[in-house]
Amino acid sequence: MTQDDLKQAAAELEHAPAADILKWAADHFAPRLTFATSLGLEDCVVTDLIAKASLPVDFFTLDTGVLFPETYALWKRVEDRYGVAVTAVRPRRTIDEQALDAGPELWTREPDRCCELRKMEPLRARLAGYDAWITAIRRDQTPERANAPVVGWDGRFGLVKINPLVRWTFDEVRAYVREHDVPYNPLHDQNYPSIGCVPCTSPVMPGEDPRSGRWRGKEKTECGLHLKKN
Ligand code: SF4
Repeated sequence: MTQDDLKQAAAELEHAPAADILKWAADHFAPRLTFATSLGLEDCVVTDLIAKASLPVDFFTLDTGVLFPETYALWKRVEDRYGVAVTAVRPRRTIDEQALDAGPELWTREPDRCCELRKMEPLRARLAGYDAWITAIRRDQTPERANAPVVGWDGRFGLVKINPLVRWTFDEVRAYVREHDVPYNPLHDQNYPSIGCVPCTSPVMPGEDPRSGRWRGKEKTECGLHLKKN
């Protein structure tokens, strides 16, 4: 597809239901289509939509080695509930090996470098084998995501990116999860609206920005997966 084709598709799909956007993605890119689930609430909605439509999509998650026990448990529940395999995409080094190379708890000193090693490098390698990837980002999550199209060229990774939930609000996500009895991380009910790695995720108090618990006290708001190419 050319850039013009993608722009036209984005315009046509802007107000389409998420299920239709996912069907369009499968029609155009399967079997070279993959879904990056971070097992967050939005990811659980996309998983439910893909599974219910039996779309031929490869699932994976970035297993940094420092996810919450509740996240690992949800991963298993999702696989059991939907009969899908969520492939673990892991960094080259374990946490202990990284500590030998770069010092302990790299996330406290250089979180960007830690995210590069534990998320970006493995993600780049994974996406190299696909023509398109699906994500569960929403426009109102961060300023970087505010202009995300439904479909567009991802210059950072060199493939098409499909964002079926970009127009959804957090309330709509919660309503879908309730209505469809979608399995989700119990930490969401304990003041964790956004869940990442254990060392970089803290609870969020009423009135705080839902993503303020990620890299709390640092300028960082994204691990880099959804930033635009510089
Ligand atoms: Fe490292 Fe934190 Fe990034 Fe996880 S979120 S890869 S622990 S800096």
